[in-house]
Amino acid sequence: MTGTSGMKRILIVDDEPNVMRVLKLMLERAGHQVRTAADGLAGLEMARAEAPDVLITDIQMPRMDGRELVCTLHAEAPQRGFDIYVMTSMTEREEREWVRRIPRVAFLEKPVSPRQLVARLAGIGLTPRELHAIFITHEHSDHVGCAPQLAQKFGIPIWMSHGTWSAIGQPDLQGWLRLAADGRPIALSAQCELHPFTVPHDAREPLQLVVQSGGRRMGICTDLGHPSAHVVERLQGCHALLLESNHDPDLLAASRYPVFLKRRVAGALGHLSNAAAADLLARIAHPELQLVVAAHLSEQNNRPELALSHLQAALDAAQLNTALLAATAAQGCDWQWV
Ligand SMILES: [Zn+2]
Ligand SMILES: [Zn+2]
Repeated sequence: MTGTSGMKRILIVDDEPNVMRVLKLMLERAGHQVRTAADGLAGLEMARAEAPDVLITDIQMPRMDGRELVCTLHAEAPQRGFDIYVMTSMTEREEREWVRRIPRVAFLEKPVSPRQLVARLAGIGLTPRELHAIFITHEHSDHVGCAPQLAQKFGIPIWMSHGTWSAIGQPDLQGWLRLAADGRPIALSAQCELHPFTVPHDAREPLQLVVQSGGRRMGICTDLGHPSAHVVERLQGCHALLLESNHDPDLLAASRYPVFLKRRVAGALGHLSNAAAADLLARIAHPELQLVVAAHLSEQNNRPELALSHLQAALDAAQLNTALLAATAAQGCDWQWV
């Protein structure tokens, strides 16, 4: 995970079995050897006994938390020969400062927990029981999060491609699983239809969506390596767009991301830069497009004003006065009507 290729021995320390399972599966699929520990103390013992190539740890855990684990390892061996990644969620920002002071430690974004998700829904005036369906676009952990647990707990149909379901380990979703595929519309109600379409992204069978309701079309397109002809065609005629504008190439190049991750993000199956998002927008913009929301902005490798200025330039060139705003990972954006 440091930019050199080949199999790594990775130790994951986390007390949440679901996060652990998905992460372990993904890393094993990428050819790595994965060991796991359920709390900081067990992780410390394993790291001492057989130094891994990479250690990934959660912060909040019983017996010994992630911060104490990392600080203990650092105190015992300041010249430690392996990298450490600390998984943080969006509510743990303040936890990040200490990470910066220790060499060879960086943080990774962790998916939200059911409790955080319910709280965020409440923030926009919704309870889980009001959700008609959940759609998982692909298996990357920031998109799966706690959705499978939420679906089972509250009895919500959960849609995903067969490839995505396989990639998360084919969990038994107790009758709530619904399989989605490119070109097969999903009628959620008499008024609302979903139109999934395939996108080029480094996942097993990733889908993005057009939501159609009352003659209006909203395109949702995050996690896109590049705009394929198919994507451009499927996003035509939208009245609203939630469009990935992931990174600024200079900020990405200068960031603390490990080299393999920088290559992945900027690659043809990674994420759209601000300029690439603006190019795509120029190809699908039309006079009926009322709203564009820039989404999936990288916290470390982008700034909302950079994303917005690229997208605004594309709208200006098309002579449109479409409303434009950015959704952030922490706050999202308010309800919008189109
Ligand atoms: Zn993503
Ligand atoms: Zn992704």
